[in-house]
Amino acid sequence: MLTNMINLPNLKILDMKEMEYDYRFLVESSIPSPSHCPKCGAVPNLYKHGKKEQLFFDLPMHAKRVGLIIKRQRYKCRECDETFFEDLPDMDISRSVTKRLIHWIQEASLDKTFTSVAEEIGVDEKTVRNIFNDYVAELVTQTDFRTPKWLGIDEVHLLKSYRCVITDVENRSVIDILRKRNKDMVIGYLTELKDIDEIELVAMDMWNPYKSAVNTVIPHAKIVIDKFHVVKLANEALEKIRKANRQNVSAKERRQLMRDRYVLLTRRKDLNHFGDQIKLQVWTNKFPLLSQAYELKEQFFDIYEAETIKEAYKLYQNWLSNVPNELMTYFEDLIKSINNWEEEIFNYFNFPITNAYTESLNRLIKTMNHVGRGYSFEALRAKILFTKGYRKVKKKKKFKEVEVTFRKMLPDQFPNLGQISYEWIYEEIHGADFSTLTKAMEEGSF
Ligand SMILES: [Zn+2]
Repeated sequence: MLTNMINLPNLKILDMKEMEYDYRFLVESSIPSPSHCPKCGAVPNLYKHGKKEQLFFDLPMHAKRVGLIIKRQRYKCRECDETFFEDLPDMDISRSVTKRLIHWIQEASLDKTFTSVAEEIGVDEKTVRNIFNDYVAELVTQTDFRTPKWLGIDEVHLLKSYRCVITDVENRSVIDILRKRNKDMVIGYLTELKDIDEIELVAMDMWNPYKSAVNTVIPHAKIVIDKFHVVKLANEALEKIRKANRQNVSAKERRQLMRDRYVLLTRRKDLNHFGDQIKLQVWTNKFPLLSQAYELKEQFFDIYEAETIKEAYKLYQNWLSNVPNELMTYFEDLIKSINNWEEEIFNYFNFPITNAYTESLNRLIKTMNHVGRGYSFEALRAKILFTKGYRKVKKKKKFKEVEVTFRKMLPDQFPNLGQISYEWIYEEIHGADFSTLTKAMEEGSF
């Protein structure tokens, strides 16, 4: 009857203690003695050589932790003189837990922190983390994400730290999230990728560690600086000028200018409300320098409308010559960035690959930060990458024509059978889809 309680038929319960938060079972194996020596393989010439108590943790029961103290039989072989313990098929010996607890920990770690999982079952946090890491490594080997043609490397703030998100730009999907954003981490990641020759373009922000990692591992790939990160600097220049003008106005006007700043940061062609156009007029009339800066911002955005790299360079040179000395300090960061990243920024005009991509990633990260509270980084990453339902899968057709050899052998009998064509469908997996993930998180089904 006690055997049923833990539902492990290979064990016989000798004793049980119930405490406030724990059950402790004293058990022994009910499996017959081993038939041969595992060390030398000899026909049984074994004798019992003492017992040792070993503690294993099992699934919690009635909201209490379960520990199994196993009186484990030791044997000695007369042939080779070696000693060994009896086999325990239900146990993971190296982790000191039951095998079924391993599965339980894998599932639980996807929803809770390692510490709370550890507390719930009685093992230490490190054991939970190791079991989970093993599980993730196993999932990695089962996952076959296609290496993208256009790789995105983005820096995001996720679960209180800067992380590096690796994306498939063309398919708008996440293919990995790296714990840190440093060069070694990115090099390590890129080195592990298969088919790296397939990567043609890498979209990124102006961040030297990424650039140098890409140049080290995939020097053939062209780096393209995300348009969003460049034009953002033009808006930041405008913000600096607005802030610099704060002292020159009354407190009331300052608050109003703060509220109205969106009209300055919006493109003129997107100011659809007449009221917004008036606001823009009022502020630019009041501050001539702000007015000039606004025009420069608009002009800078226009560079990105260029259709060729040559035209873009021309527009930029023209823009640069229009920046007056008194505004130079505000636009300094933008100009410096262009000097430092000229090639990669202007690559965009040969390979315009970033459209509308950053915005959906930003929305995804924002949702992740909201939903991901309480998760460990590893668990959040695993859940995103290894949940099958979030994946972007493309069905592809393959077509092959095969020459029929009969024709060669018997051309008279098979006059029309020159070739047979085969067609089959296979799946390409492109990581976790941005919009499917965002939807699952916003709907609460993540
Ligand atoms: Zn032996």
